[in-house]
Amino acid sequence: MGIIGQHKQDQTSGVGAEVLFVTDSMLGKLARWLRALGYDTHYESHWEPGIIDRHVKEGRRLITRQKMRAEEFRDSLLVNSDHVGEQLTELKWMVPLSPDRSDLFSRCLLCNAPLRSIKVEEARDNLPEYVFYQNMGGIRFCPSCGRYYWPGTHRTRMARQLEDWGFMDRPKK
Ligand SMILES: [Zn+2]
Repeated sequence: MGIIGQHKQDQTSGVGAEVLFVTDSMLGKLARWLRALGYDTHYESHWEPGIIDRHVKEGRRLITRQKMRAEEFRDSLLVNSDHVGEQLTELKWMVPLSPDRSDLFSRCLLCNAPLRSIKVEEARDNLPEYVFYQNMGGIRFCPSCGRYYWPGTHRTRMARQLEDWGFMDRPKK
């Protein structure tokens, strides 16, 4: 059950405004899925000493599979499974993950930056021809790494997977 009518809008609008994560270095896949859900999730494949500490002090919650690490940092979230779908389900029991369909794919899967909407004509040079000629809406780009995102089979597949894991209601027919 989500909270209706209390959703705050600010410059980091979306679910990411409510809870921020930093994931341990073994949890890159989980980080991508959390970003797909719209959550602000910092991830690096290798952590320099003290960096996680800094992120936690800045208000992120560490997600880790290592019990020792979980005990080291305040408000850590310990997951046990090595399967990303199960990890998301474990998280759902610990924090109220209630993403909205409109928050899906609002962040860059690679670098976590909030995506910006762009008109199809303005993005022409960066899109496959079929996307341009079908005049698709919903084109977004990442101001940080310059990657473009558009509605397509990949996005649909990810949304289906989230439905299968129980994160999204299936669209009403
Ligand atoms: Zn990016």
